[in-house]
Amino acid sequence: MDFLERINNDKEKILQVFTTLHQTPELGFQEVKTSQFLAQKLHEAKFKVISNINGTTGVMGILEGPEPGPVLALRADMDALAFKINGKDVNIHACGHDANSTMVLMAAGEIARIGIKRGTLKILFQPAEEVLGGAEAMLASGLLDDVNEMLGIHLRPIQEAKLGQATPALCHGSSYIVTAKIKGLAAHGARPHLGINAIDGAAAIVNAVNAIKLNPAVPFSVKTTKLTAGGNAYNIIPDIAEMGFDLRAQTNTAMEQLITKTCNAIEKGAATVGAEAEVIIRGGVPGAEYDQGTIALAKKAIEAVLGEALGPVITPGGEDFHYYSTKGKIKTAYIGLGADLVPGLHHPEMKFNPEALVQGVKILSYLVYERLIS
Ligand SMILES: [Zn+2]
Ligand SMILES: [Zn+2]
Repeated sequence: MDFLERINNDKEKILQVFTTLHQTPELGFQEVKTSQFLAQKLHEAKFKVISNINGTTGVMGILEGPEPGPVLALRADMDALAFKINGKDVNIHACGHDANSTMVLMAAGEIARIGIKRGTLKILFQPAEEVLGGAEAMLASGLLDDVNEMLGIHLRPIQEAKLGQATPALCHGSSYIVTAKIKGLAAHGARPHLGINAIDGAAAIVNAVNAIKLNPAVPFSVKTTKLTAGGNAYNIIPDIAEMGFDLRAQTNTAMEQLITKTCNAIEKGAATVGAEAEVIIRGGVPGAEYDQGTIALAKKAIEAVLGEALGPVITPGGEDFHYYSTKGKIKTAYIGLGADLVPGLHHPEMKFNPEALVQGVKILSYLVYERLIS
């Protein structure tokens, strides 16, 4: 494959694009400069460009081949993370979305240079993965209605994959947040029998939630992550407690069960002391549901570039990419790319070996070549 050789020679250009994006860390739905830069580069590569998708910073590049064929999409996320360092608010690309965008953009450029033979290539730069809402906003635009297959890529921490390793199936779990307001009855500390102590209700709930069981063959966890109650006075029976819960499950079916059981535990736990619970499912992300044919495509590309592919890698983190398959009914696969990344994603000093960017561009270019050109 001549073009794989050519990508080696593009290393400087790849690093330049990465540096530009890395120096422009913008938060979810505020990726104004980032999306302008990416739109401009797509335009230069002769893609038809759609900006401000659904009123957001989302950008799509479209390249059509002369013959009919499948519609293939590559998706990258664009947003950075907010940190507080030495009392100052700073945005940092600590999840490597600058790397993801670089790899997808440079692969798009390489494919445009070769020219596609059949079907359509859609390049999607999605906003707001970290704060959620980005993928759903892209789906709501209707621009993905004709997409048959979509692939994403993300650098992995060194514990999951080293430089030179990649998986065609990075299996994120589902994660959800549930909150609850426990309503009791205020009373004087001397007359507790006239009140309902919201903290007693919260304590019962913590225990009920910790006792939830699901099929142990599927990894899951649920825990109380917030509990506030009581005011400044120590002699008042508090009538309100605010609670929060973090839910994780490796499959979407298990998550449905976990949400039902958690809501039940909160309501029944509060009822044991006569309190009421107002439960709100705040939202979350579905777990990975991949298409075997799309995984096979990604695997072939990884093998062509790196020699061999890792098996599926299970990661407890969440990704809103999985709305494209669960809600959008698109066939998907998601590549996890090793980069000797330390100390970890979402760490303000996250570092990785930039050689991975070249490998990622090659893998993405190869799989598009395979589907729409060869
Ligand atoms: Zn992240
Ligand atoms: Zn990420």
